[in-house]
Amino acid sequence: MASQEIEALAGALARLPGLGPRSARRAVLWLVKRRETALVQLVDTLEAMRASLVECRECGNVDTSDPCAVCADPRRDARQLCVVEDVADLWALDRARLFTGRYHVLGGRLSALDGIRPEDLAIGRLLERVGAGGVDEVVLAMNATLEGQTTAHYLAERLEGMPVRITQLAHGLPVGGELDYLDEGTLAQALRARRPVT
Ligand SMILES: [Zn+2]
Repeated sequence: MASQEIEALAGALARLPGLGPRSARRAVLWLVKRRETALVQLVDTLEAMRASLVECRECGNVDTSDPCAVCADPRRDARQLCVVEDVADLWALDRARLFTGRYHVLGGRLSALDGIRPEDLAIGRLLERVGAGGVDEVVLAMNATLEGQTTAHYLAERLEGMPVRITQLAHGLPVGGELDYLDEGTLAQALRARRPVT
């Protein structure tokens, strides 16, 4: 039996992705044991983050500065713009350190089912950014879902006629994937995206 405050902390941690009630309790116990060191540090870090988190007005990323670290980095190639559905996608792509351009976060995907329309996403802002010039290529990095692909098609249509190259992430065989284990959709995509052997 624990006090209300300890229960509340365990409850709050259990809501984090990847943590269930059991691991939340273990984390609480770990923090209670280190209340003078790790707990103080965690509280300070969370407070500092809460006080400084902002949405980047340029790309929609969430960071502790506006413009965000990506937009403010002069080594980034502003001529390449990678459009993603969510901040999580931006972070995932950036962790891979393969793309050296800038990003644009839509804030979701078009969905008739959830009633998400073009005006609910940062599409107007994307067209403004591209229309302002200085962008050579727009990379549509939507998820390989029906809604992600619908969104990519819609964006490609809206960008048509603008002086930019529009590209899309290739879909196909995952690294280490065996044909026998793949679903038909992935196989079909891989076959469609086949290229000459050089
Ligand atoms: Zn930014």
